[in-house]
Amino acid sequence: MGKTPTSRRHTALVALGGQGSARAVGEVWLVGAGPGDPELLTLKALKALQAADVVVHDGLVSEAILDLAPPNARRLSVAKRKSRHSYAQDEINRLLVAFAREGLTTVRLKGGDPFIFGRGGEELEACRAAGVVCHVVPGVTAALAAGAAAGAPLTHRGAAQAVTFVTGHAAVGGEPDLDWPSLARANQTVVIYMGVSTAAPIAARLIEAGRAGSTAALVVEDASLPTERRIVTPLAGIADAAAAVTGPALLIVGEAMALAHPSSRPASPHASTETAALSVPPHRGAGRIGRSR
Ligand code: SAH
Repeated sequence: MGKTPTSRRHTALVALGGQGSARAVGEVWLVGAGPGDPELLTLKALKALQAADVVVHDGLVSEAILDLAPPNARRLSVAKRKSRHSYAQDEINRLLVAFAREGLTTVRLKGGDPFIFGRGGEELEACRAAGVVCHVVPGVTAALAAGAAAGAPLTHRGAAQAVTFVTGHAAVGGEPDLDWPSLARANQTVVIYMGVSTAAPIAARLIEAGRAGSTAALVVEDASLPTERRIVTPLAGIADAAAAVTGPALLIVGEAMALAHPSSRPASPHASTETAALSVPPHRGAGRIGRSR
């Protein structure tokens, strides 16, 4: 793509049927807002926000980030909360197309990355089907922020040869339908999004499929925010750890989580003395990380 967004005034003009009239056609920018800390926005995301006529956002996006849009840009929350009016996915898709057709530079702002459990793919398809140009700006997904702040690498020589992102969202029957034998193999990291309420069956299935209950695990709530909290636990205790969180949280299971810092000081290059780099524990060689099998 290599493009940066421009304001509505600069969008392409499309001549309509030789009438001598012309109409500005808007575009949709599907933008990852990152995990919460505004400093983890990409420059491209910031530029897109600054050029927005309308910002359609979900509940994970903070005010601090929304405030980066021009003051006169319209903001529309389509948060999926039970207590308020919520929008169904196809309504959101239709809204994006309608705004673009009104000639508006439409920023669809989503927590983390739009294509990681964000339903961004459906919005992109809806735009494509309607002939509306849709650009995608990647964002820092929660797993990357959680691992970084904890000083726990998601891949690590000798301890984590692979990392897999899965959804803990319960399918029918109250537990997620995942490939347990594959996720139970040692020396890999499994990051579970939306898994707080299903932590108990997830741990049980992983252990039944052969992952040791002593495997290192980490629960991270509000990654990258001042309220970030990290709980280090063996896999067998992950449900108890998850029961203690109230905000959005990830469950991360894998030998490399033995490196995780349990404290919760957020990292900012502008913070006084405790930066992320300073808070990483002294290097322990991969060989010292407990292998579960
Ligand atoms: N697109 C997002 C994920 C959306 S799914 C991304 O790339 O990060 C929503 C889930 O993401 C939450 O249930 C939680 O598991 C996780 N999540 C999002 N933001 C988080 C944060 N700041 N800290 C911890 N988990 C987070």
